[in-house]
Amino acid sequence: MRRAGVVAVALAAGAALTAAEKAAAPKSAAAPTVSAPSSSPIVPNSTGLEFIDTSFENASPVWYEQATDGTILVHLLYDHERASPNRAAGHIHVLLHGKPGARIKFELRNLDNVWNGVRGSVAREIRTMCISENGRDWRTIAVDNSTGTTVRFEIELPGPRLYLARLEPYRISDLEKLLASIRGHPLVAITPIGKTVQGRELEIVRVGREEAPRRVFLRARAHPWEPGGNWVVQGLVTRLLRGDAAAKQYLERTCYYILPMANKDGVALGRTRFNLLGKDLNREWHLPVDAELVPENHALEQWLEGMIARGRKPHFAIELHNDGGGRLHISRPPIPELPQHLERMALFEKLLRRHTWFSEGPTNSAFRNAGTLGDGWLARWGIDAVVHEFNANVIAGLPDKPMPQGRHWMDYGAQLATVWHEYFGVLGEAK
Ligand SMILES: [Zn+2]
Repeated sequence: MRRAGVVAVALAAGAALTAAEKAAAPKSAAAPTVSAPSSSPIVPNSTGLEFIDTSFENASPVWYEQATDGTILVHLLYDHERASPNRAAGHIHVLLHGKPGARIKFELRNLDNVWNGVRGSVAREIRTMCISENGRDWRTIAVDNSTGTTVRFEIELPGPRLYLARLEPYRISDLEKLLASIRGHPLVAITPIGKTVQGRELEIVRVGREEAPRRVFLRARAHPWEPGGNWVVQGLVTRLLRGDAAAKQYLERTCYYILPMANKDGVALGRTRFNLLGKDLNREWHLPVDAELVPENHALEQWLEGMIARGRKPHFAIELHNDGGGRLHISRPPIPELPQHLERMALFEKLLRRHTWFSEGPTNSAFRNAGTLGDGWLARWGIDAVVHEFNANVIAGLPDKPMPQGRHWMDYGAQLATVWHEYFGVLGEAK
């Protein structure tokens, strides 16, 4: 059944590709083809796949068809940016229905993204997928992206249903569970700050005492396909509220303010990057926010200006993302205090390497990505702000280099509490 050019990933073994399998996989595999259009009937799907369900929370919109070699071609749908050539696909979260024991070959298509006006397939960044029978317990598998424009893999259905996702999902319902578990805690305040385009409520979660001398702001999930930041937030919040001696020390020094899920509409609807009016929530922070087109950022801007007016400007802001690189993005807007900012970010990086599995390093000295939250908050308000990407394929800094799962990112979030505690300890008393 196995045809040349399609690399099998054995579900039963849960295995990554062996060296032998990699060596056996031709690099110039021919793409599966679909029969030319004609009036003849289409042969019914013979693979054992009955349906791809995209009707549930965070499911990605797709359409699909069967190639002549039996491969199921899954066509992702792009998000488009308003008034821009930019487009993005890459969020994948579907529920497969089929016959238990069926072995099914998949090929993901439409990964031809445009980022910052430049064409490039995101397939090169996709080397893993996740599967789960119950939507709770996920395992990661390796995939073949050697064509450069598609992602191929083969899975065996253990039962009649199998969830398939790009990364271990973190849904709005997961956030609601976290919020329900901490609501009412004496060190927690959950404050609505506004609504998304579709009217979903956005909240700032404060963990700690308002009068603590230092303040950290975190934002996760500006881009809906990137759940890593949500797992990091969950790990950090859980650590800060553990109630042990270390947690008391952390919160004596630092108060945390968190916008845990900036693009809730995108998460709910399984979009990849933009808000529902085609705006990127991690762009245009160098300008006052357009309240009509980007209500998510307008709510945050209003909150921040209120904090500043009350003398509570954050000392550090971090914007959490996933990509295929995992670097700390340090942008360099032309501001007089840039050298001091870079010194502090070097300290932060050193502490990340000491206390977490971070090993990827920062962007280079020529890097600037204008308008990101990291760049814009530094330029407009003088806040030490950065974008932190998390590598979606591998945890390079752990000894066995595992493919990432939520628990790895939760560990990282817990370790961040120590990082900031020491960071502010080194910098001394509140400036
Ligand atoms: Zn992102």
